[in-house]
Amino acid sequence: MSGKNVTEVVIADASGIARAAQILESGGIVAVPTETVYGLAARADSEAAVAKVYAAKGRPGFNPLIVHVRDVDQARLFAQWSDAAQTAVETQWPGPLTIVVPAKPARALADAVTAGLDSVALRCPAHPVMRALLDLVDFPLAAPSANRSGFISPTSAAHVLTSLDGRIDLVLDGGTTQDGVESTILALREDGTWEELRPGPVDLNALHQQYFGAPLPAKTGKDTIEAPGQLASHYAPGKPVRLDAAAGAPDEFLIGFGAVKGACTLSESGDLAEAAERLYDCLHRGAASDYPRMAVAPVPHLGLGRAINDRLRRAAAPAD
Ligand code: AMP
Ligand code: MG
Repeated sequence: MSGKNVTEVVIADASGIARAAQILESGGIVAVPTETVYGLAARADSEAAVAKVYAAKGRPGFNPLIVHVRDVDQARLFAQWSDAAQTAVETQWPGPLTIVVPAKPARALADAVTAGLDSVALRCPAHPVMRALLDLVDFPLAAPSANRSGFISPTSAAHVLTSLDGRIDLVLDGGTTQDGVESTILALREDGTWEELRPGPVDLNALHQQYFGAPLPAKTGKDTIEAPGQLASHYAPGKPVRLDAAAGAPDEFLIGFGAVKGACTLSESGDLAEAAERLYDCLHRGAASDYPRMAVAPVPHLGLGRAINDRLRRAAAPAD
C-alpha cells in the first residue's frame, strides 16, 4: 500500500472509516480529522507502521508522538494511571487535552512512539470520525499532525494533500476542523503538580483554578527534551512572517484580526475561537499566495489567544 505513491481520498462516512480501519490494521498510514487539526495516524503498537509516519512527515526521531485512545480504560493499558491523571481528564475527555504521564514499563506500544522516553502522551479525541475509527480497531493510534515536519498544520483534507500527497495511503475527508489549533499538552509531575507543555484549546489556567482554587504554577524552566516538538521554528509557511502588524506593506500578505482587515482575516469580530479555527487556513493561503512576505495583526494574549500567539511566534521564527 505505502510506496505506491498514490494517496486515496475518501469521504469520512461509514464505508470510508471502515476502509481507513482496514488500512491501519495492515500497517498503513491515514490522515484523519480530529477536533483540533488533521492527524496522521498509524497503529501505535507497530514499529513498522510508526516508522512510516516519521518518514512521511520527515519528523526527527527524537520527537515523540501522541497516542490517541478511545477511553480511559484503554489509556490505562499504556500509562501508570494516577488520581492526578484521572482528575485532569475527568471533565475534558473526550476532548483536546493531551496528558503526559509515566508509561507502563511493559506496554504494547512501538518504542518509536515515545522516542525512548519513559513517559507517554495520551489523548482521547472527541471528533466523531476519529472516535468511530478508534471504536473499530483494537489498538491505539499514534497521530501527529498530518503535515511535513515544521510546516503549517492542516485543518482540511486539501491542506493535508498540499504537503503529504503521494506520501501517505489515505485521507479521510471529514471537512474542516473546529478548534483549529493542536491539543493542549499537560505534563503531570510525580508530586501531582501540573506543567503546561503546549497551550491549546483547553485553558489550563482556568482548569487548574477550577480544580485547585489556585492558578497554574509558573514553569520550572528546565524542559529540555520534554517537548521537543516545541521547537522555536514550526508551522512555517516558507516565507518571512512579521507579527503585531497594524497594517500590511504592499509586498505582504496581511492576516487580519478585529479592526485590522487583511487578505485573510482571522475574525472580524475579534472572536478568538473563530480566529483559532481560521489560523492555519490563513497561513496556508498566505503561503500559497504570490506575496513574498506575510504579516499578522496583533491577537490578544489571553485564553485561546495564548495558543494562537504560540503558533504565530513559531511560524515567524527563522528556521535554522
Ligand atoms: P504533534 O504530534 O506534532 O502535535 O506534537 C506532539 C507533541 O507532544 C510534541 O511537542 C511532543 O514533543 C509532545 N510529546 C509527545 N510525547 C511526549 C512525552 N512523552 N513527553 C513530553 N512531550 C511529549
Ligand atoms: Mg505538528
